[in-house]
Amino acid sequence: MPKHFNTIKRYLTDEEKLIDFFEDYRLDEPDFEFIYIDDPNYNDLSDEAYEYNDMICDQIDEAELDENYELADELRNKLIPIPERKIDIEKTFNLLPDFEKNAALIYIKNNLFVETVILKCLNCDYEEEVDYDIVAECWMDGPYPISYCPHCNVGDFIPIDVYNKKKRK
Ligand SMILES: [Zn+2]
Repeated sequence: MPKHFNTIKRYLTDEEKLIDFFEDYRLDEPDFEFIYIDDPNYNDLSDEAYEYNDMICDQIDEAELDENYELADELRNKLIPIPERKIDIEKTFNLLPDFEKNAALIYIKNNLFVETVILKCLNCDYEEEVDYDIVAECWMDGPYPISYCPHCNVGDFIPIDVYNKKKRK
């Protein structure tokens, strides 16, 4: 479908592409372990924290089943964030079998990018940058996609340049 609005295209760095590759590889080989950069400040969550998060996740599932999205959002804010760890790209790469190393090197030669679109609500002006893939999936027909605003739940959530055109009129 031709696009009558702008999307934002950002090319991935080699590092991002390699991390994608490692993650894909781990789906096939669950025993493949990443090597992380030593960070003296890094602390994994305690078992209790993981259990707490599991409990909250169950409650979120329940809230969503009941279509109580406000409660689900509230619960999501109660989750304890998992501390981020930086992957040691070189050391993790070296753990790959030779065949996969070659595949990884070919993979990073591809010009991979992420494409996003900024959506804005005609009703409440809330805006959000969303993966274009997700938007395209729900886009049935018409010159541009329209969805429900996650903020006010009115169905006028549209690409920002269409929004700007409409507001100028
Ligand atoms: Zn809205």
